[in-house]
Amino acid sequence: MAQCEVCGNEYYLAFQVVTAGVTHTFDCFECAIHKLAPICGTCGCKILGHGIEANDTFYCCAHCAHAQGARAIVDNAAHVQVS
Ligand SMILES: [Zn+2]
Ligand SMILES: [Zn+2]
Repeated sequence: MAQCEVCGNEYYLAFQVVTAGVTHTFDCFECAIHKLAPICGTCGCKILGHGIEANDTFYCCAHCAHAQGARAIVDNAAHVQVS
């Protein structure tokens, strides 16, 4: 049995996630996301997929990256600006 570090539940299916050499224990993915998922620098949502990194900040999508000035980011080939 292991105890989730977010909610405290002791659960036989608890699992470990290692990030930057630190081991974390969770009883479910929701708790792991709550603790570890990066947060979009514009809208504040949890980033669960690959996300976008620009100017040392994570964003959930190209639109949110644009809002902070990262204009080079595109999420659709039709949005590429040829200059
Ligand atoms: Zn939990
Ligand atoms: Zn966002």
